[in-house]
Order: sequence, then C-alpha cells, then structure tokens
Amino acid sequence: MIKPAHLEKYGNSVWFDGEILSPEHATVSIMSHALHYGSGFFEGIRAYETEKGTAIFRLDEHLARLYRTTKMFYVEIPFEVATLKQAVIETVKRNGFKACYIRPSVFLGTGWNALMPGNDILIHTAISCWPLASAIVTPRAIHAKVASYRRFSSTQTPMQAKAASNYMNSLLLKHEAVQNGFDEAIALDINGQVSEASASNIFLVIDDQIHTPSLASSVLNGITRLSVIDIAKKLGYSVIERSIARDELYTANEVFITGTAAEVQSIGSVDRINIGSGHYPITERILTEFKNIITGQSTTHQHWLSFI
Ligand code: PMP
Repeated sequence: MIKPAHLEKYGNSVWFDGEILSPEHATVSIMSHALHYGSGFFEGIRAYETEKGTAIFRLDEHLARLYRTTKMFYVEIPFEVATLKQAVIETVKRNGFKACYIRPSVFLGTGWNALMPGNDILIHTAISCWPLASAIVTPRAIHAKVASYRRFSSTQTPMQAKAASNYMNSLLLKHEAVQNGFDEAIALDINGQVSEASASNIFLVIDDQIHTPSLASSVLNGITRLSVIDIAKKLGYSVIERSIARDELYTANEVFITGTAAEVQSIGSVDRINIGSGHYPITERILTEFKNIITGQSTTHQHWLSFI
C-alpha cells in the first residue's frame, strides 16, 4: 500500500475503473504495460471557483480530446463519454475542492507479451484531482529559453495526442530551461520552426496581429489555445496560424503562452532578449477576458463552464 503521506494532496476520493475509491486503494500492478512502455493517455482540466459555485472549464472538449488521443493508439476507452463526464463531476464533488486540477487518465495494465498488448489487456481509466487555484491574480512575465531538444514530429508519433510518451520530451525541455536559470522552455519543431512550450502553446503579438504556430509544427491543439483564439477574434484581433521562425520570437511586441496549467502567461524574455517594451497590452486584454470567463462573469461564454 502507498503511504498516505504521499497521497495527501489527492483528497479523499478518486474514480478508478468505474468505482469511487480512496486514493490509497487505487493501485495497479508493477507489470502494467504503461509503466514499462509509456502507454498512458491523459487530460489536464481545471475546475474554477465562481460566484455560482465550482465550474469545470471546457469539460466536453477535454474529454473529446482524450477519446481522440486513445483512438490514434488503437486503444478503446471502456466507458462512454457521458459516464466519464459524470465521473469527473462526481470526483470533484466528493473531494469538495472549490478549485482544482483534474487528471483523467487511461493506461494499459497487465496482459501483454513482448511489447504487444494482448486482446485481454486491462485498460484502466482513472480520475484524480487536487486543489489548484487560478494564478491569474498574480500575473508575472516569465523568462524562456529555446531548448536544444526539438519536439517530435508526426512522422514519429501522433503529436495531436496527449500521450504520456510525449512528456519525457517535455520533461527534458523543461529541465534544460530550469537548470539554466529560466522558467520555461520553447521547443522548435523538427524543421527548426517554433512549436510550443514544454506543456503550453505559444502566441506572438506582432503589430497588433496575433500569430501562433499552426498544428503542422508539432503543436498540441490546446483547449486554452482554441479559447484564446476565440477570445482574440471576438475582441477584433486577427489571429494567424502559420509557420513561425525562431527569430520572430525575439522581435515580437508581446509573447505569451497558454495552457490549462499555465492559463495565459506573458513571456518577458527569450534567451535573455527582452520582449517588446515590457508592456503587454494585448496579452492583458485577452487575460482580462479569459479571467471574466473562468470566474463566471462573462455572459457570452457560460457554455464553457460545467457547474458541479
Ligand atoms: N502543449 C502541450 C504539450 C501540453 O501538454 C499542453 C497542456 N495540455 C498544452 C499544449 C496546452 O493544452 P491545453 O490548453 O489543452 O491545456
């Protein structure tokens, strides 16, 4: 059994293969395929505190991405999406967290032979969550480094998949940045064009237009990315998805990253080159609108929130 001290932050309940369990009882075999070969698939979702109670941000879109991810790896999730949606809501409710990070995951267990999963392989589905409040109350510009490792390409593995196996690359990117005194890494794609940060998407503001790498640059189609594109267009900005050269990072007026964990965060410098004038007016407009949405104050985007 795992020591309770290691599980403290996960509250009193997790959902595991159809049952609500206490975290110390949700265990798997050390011979799980995922542990040996990285066959894990997951989502990262946030529940925010609003005046009308706790609301999960874009739950349907996150779950849809989880099913798209597993499909690309020939793995069929043994639950209907409606069941998982209820399970996510139930898990958050039981833990009583007002704001939290939610981690649904699907991974292969025992029942494999010489790498290949057998027909009877166990496909585990789990949902856990832990407290996490929005960091938007204290925005700050972070310092980024272009990493020496590149992102994989879709010629090697599906890059639209939120697959655990992609995250050793993310870890190395982030490790290099942090070891060298930076906060975040920016990865280039296999062709040397800007891709994304270690676990977030990147946007550049150039002359009042907003630019972001297209999905062809090994970019995960982030739910926050899509949300920001929608917000920016509604604010009247043109958003251009295209191939972006590394040089453009250094000369952009503003650079920011987006992600479930990162939310919307300004990049103050890249490779110690300061970005723009040190003011981020367009990022701030988007951030303000994003904050209105996640706190339930926007009348236009209520459909992005699932109240629990
Ligand atoms: N890229 C990568 C590699 C990520 O891990 C994430 C986080 N899921 C993102 C981008 C941002 O995606 P989202 O906005 O859906 O969290």
